[in-house]
Amino acid sequence: MFWMLDPWVQKSPRRRSDEVQRRQENRGLWTVDYGLFKEGVKVLPRDNLIEEIGQRSDLVSLISEYVPLKKAGKNYKGLCPFHSERTPSFIVSPEKQLWHCFGCGAGGNVFSFLMKIENLSFLEAAKALAQRAGVKWQSTPQSKGQDELRERLFKVNDFALSYFHDNLFNLKRGKLALSYLKERGLDKKVMEEFKLGFALPEWDSLLKEAQKKGFLLSDLEKLGLLSARSGQEGYYDNFRHRVIFPILDTQERVVGFGGRSLGQEEPKYLNSRESLVFNKSRSLFGLNLAKQEISKQGLAIIVEGYMDVIAAFQFGKTNVVASMGTSLTPEQARLLSRYTNSVVIAYDPDLAGRMASKRGLDLLSSANLKVKVAVLPEGKDPDELIRESGVKLWEELVKDAKSLIDYKIDLILSHQEIKDVEDKAQVAEEIVRVLEGIKNPVVLDGYLKLAAQRLQVDESAIRSLKAQLKISYGKKVRKFASPISGQKKIEREMLHLMVENKAALEAAKMEILPSDFTDPTFREIAEVL
Ligand SMILES: [Zn+2]
Repeated sequence: MFWMLDPWVQKSPRRRSDEVQRRQENRGLWTVDYGLFKEGVKVLPRDNLIEEIGQRSDLVSLISEYVPLKKAGKNYKGLCPFHSERTPSFIVSPEKQLWHCFGCGAGGNVFSFLMKIENLSFLEAAKALAQRAGVKWQSTPQSKGQDELRERLFKVNDFALSYFHDNLFNLKRGKLALSYLKERGLDKKVMEEFKLGFALPEWDSLLKEAQKKGFLLSDLEKLGLLSARSGQEGYYDNFRHRVIFPILDTQERVVGFGGRSLGQEEPKYLNSRESLVFNKSRSLFGLNLAKQEISKQGLAIIVEGYMDVIAAFQFGKTNVVASMGTSLTPEQARLLSRYTNSVVIAYDPDLAGRMASKRGLDLLSSANLKVKVAVLPEGKDPDELIRESGVKLWEELVKDAKSLIDYKIDLILSHQEIKDVEDKAQVAEEIVRVLEGIKNPVVLDGYLKLAAQRLQVDESAIRSLKAQLKISYGKKVRKFASPISGQKKIEREMLHLMVENKAALEAAKMEILPSDFTDPTFREIAEVL
């Protein structure tokens, strides 16, 4: 009988994508992805600790908390929590302390089970299991100091959060900030949910409070809450006269703050400085609150700013996170991929465009995320859109989000005016280059048809252009919308003007030399002129 067979011998053929993912996970186990190395300092747990945690953990009792298991011979079986099924193909071996699903190919040990089911990093899972098994978590001596400092910094951030938060709801002190937030349409519930705060205008209000509570001011400086006075002793408050947006990690720890200026203070948005506990490129604002809904819906929406996330939450859209102004980083993409493989970018129209041309969006695709772009009406960020036009329109824009390729084609077409056949040829070339990365022939065929349609040229022309470009450039990777083509276009237009218009020619002679033209042909013509 099937169940009598040793499941670890009878391996089901693993799907290739699982295999690739498994290999990636294994490779990542001891690298920065899992947070074992931070700030260039090893924070490895002491020797044999992981082994001890593994030995002292009971796989069957852990899995039983998530999946009802039934005894089957010397193993246990149940319904797989990682794919939907009606007959159990999920087996747990108490003897080997391993689990395996014959349906979807998932499998592993006690660490990988907890990582997968709770969306944890390896280190997070190991710590949780240590606690369960009553194993004392100890680090190597070299990382002990770092661990202690990290704990201390989190406590300082906790203190700062409550201080800022109390300010906001203090009748006298918080009046200004509170009325600003109310004017922007926020209600008290959402302000509480995001633990918003207010930094007073004074240069030493947080400083004094921290002193009173006995915190080390140098710790506050490490976190960017204070700055050292230049040329003299002492510190001053970094966040002044600002609405405060606390940034929490997925374990609900306060890692940093964003502050929006309420007066003339520059910059308009100020963030905590990078520290042992805060790395902006690895943080997503709102993920602590949004992660469950993102997992549930299988979709994350990425916006630019704090207010965009808060507006979405206030109107019941709770699968939204912010990349905090900067273009999305590979680390942020990886962080998101723990919860979903589908992402919709809802940046301000200009930023999304810049991201696309800087290959910022390709980065998401390369993190194995399916990326779409919601095209917002000109001049509206998600915050304004949701508040002014309502959540219905937001839903529609997310639903109608364009695939990355569609979006890039639109971008090319909207940025270039097609006046003549030559313009059309150039645009066609740029579009064909966008299609270069498509491996699936059916998808490619669809896009070639679409491109021909949108350019109003014969489909065969687009196809032969694609073939031509492939031959002439071989495997050389050309940048999307390379700056050269733009430069060339300007030069061509200028030359055109110089030929047609005598005044323009005279003006040009005063300003430029023939050698300023980058294109050799253009240079020759300019020399003749
Ligand atoms: Zn399964």
